Amino acid sequence: MIRSATLLATLLATSTGWAQEYRFPSELPASGTVQYITAHRDLKDGAGVEDYACGTNAYNGHRGTDIGIGGFAVMDAGSRWVVAAAEGEVTAAVDGCFDRCTSGQCECGGGFGNYVKITHPDGKSTYYGHLMRGSVRVTTGEPVTCGQRLGKVGSSGHSTGPHLHFEPRYANNVSDDPYAGACGGPISFWVAQGAYNALPGEQCAGGAPPPVEAGTVKGVLWNLGVTTGPNDAGNVRVVGGHVTADDGTTTSARAGDGYWALSLPAGSHRITAELEGFLPTSRDVTVSAGQVAWASMGLEPEDGAPPPRDDARILDAPMLIEVEPEDPVVATWWVENSGTTTWAEGEVTLAFVEGARWDAEAAPVVAPDQQVAPGEQVALQLSLTAVATATRATSVWRLTRVGGAAFGEPLQLEVRVRTATTSDPGAPDKLEGGPRGGSLGGSCGCRDADRPDPGVALIGVYIGFLLWRRRTPR
Ligand SMILES: [Zn+2]
Repeated sequence: MIRSATLLATLLATSTGWAQEYRFPSELPASGTVQYITAHRDLKDGAGVEDYACGTNAYNGHRGTDIGIGGFAVMDAGSRWVVAAAEGEVTAAVDGCFDRCTSGQCECGGGFGNYVKITHPDGKSTYYGHLMRGSVRVTTGEPVTCGQRLGKVGSSGHSTGPHLHFEPRYANNVSDDPYAGACGGPISFWVAQGAYNALPGEQCAGGAPPPVEAGTVKGVLWNLGVTTGPNDAGNVRVVGGHVTADDGTTTSARAGDGYWALSLPAGSHRITAELEGFLPTSRDVTVSAGQVAWASMGLEPEDGAPPPRDDARILDAPMLIEVEPEDPVVATWWVENSGTTTWAEGEVTLAFVEGARWDAEAAPVVAPDQQVAPGEQVALQLSLTAVATATRATSVWRLTRVGGAAFGEPLQLEVRVRTATTSDPGAPDKLEGGPRGGSLGGSCGCRDADRPDPGVALIGVYIGFLLWRRRTPR
């Protein structure tokens, strides 16, 4: 349970932010009475008590962890040091309160008596209450390291005997139990929580928060008013455009093709493009460490609406696919709608351009009830079955607007079918640019079945496009 709680905390730290973990907030003595847990936080609302482990080592309404030292005898003999559970900054330090309270009602320090509050880098704070008068040795605003002495255990404030009241609170001042357990939360704040009612470990957490690794955002900035053609970059006219991220990182778009790139910390960012005479444009983009994200943006002239423009950019294309005879072949392209039009059902197809056509018909790119907006990305997937003979073929396709023109970068697929009986399996590219009209499985009937021709019945069975879509935040 402890390990799983720690693991969960680690996972959360990598996904949602770093969280501080605490050491046992008191120095263990070289000799004499060792500290002990006298009360946990009461996690039960109203009457009755229940601690994180479903036990009853708590008292009604208690919001912290109480750590005993052995009574006034130990306090009088020098007491025990209270130390910072983690690094941070002292944000409250109170001293001067009467420290031999036994009634539980000595009003001073808001009930904590002499106490120290430390605010940690993750935004949470820890409170150390009921300290010995005159023992507090830190002041507000002072940075402290994990394990640094803050003061000594006493019995000031709402206390009935010498003990340390330890209590973590979030930035909104809501307090929480540092323990994880069956009747508590899933996340332990301790570096090493330890067994029920035993003392948490004295080791400090591993120092500074893990660095946020950078990723790269790239894109092209284009003027929506320029003449558009098959190649976006060849028609972009951008001079002096800037792209700025929400953290202030900025870069200039390259004159001519509008290309830009930013290195940003992992996380979500809003990227804004600006160019004099144009409306600024923003895109939201998620940056992953070591990865490249794309955030191309078109700038709209302030004086008029730009013409709509179809375009597609290939983000990821398959390499040469090598398969055994009759193996399935699956090729996937990630394509971004880099134009200004939305691809709706029935408006855009994938049309054959050249090479081996197999038996594929023009395939609809947008499935029913789907549309692909500018900036969105779709996976185009081609499924085939390899023929029984060794061969190699290339096929080229392009997105095409129904009743209009082909657009965007061509999608090229190269497949090689190997066989053990082929003496030179890699050599002849009999199919490349080869005969069309070949069909699969003889459904065409346009070839003489007695005449072996690798251009016929080559590869094929099924072609289908557009399986998934991923949305680029806009
Ligand atoms: Zn307490």
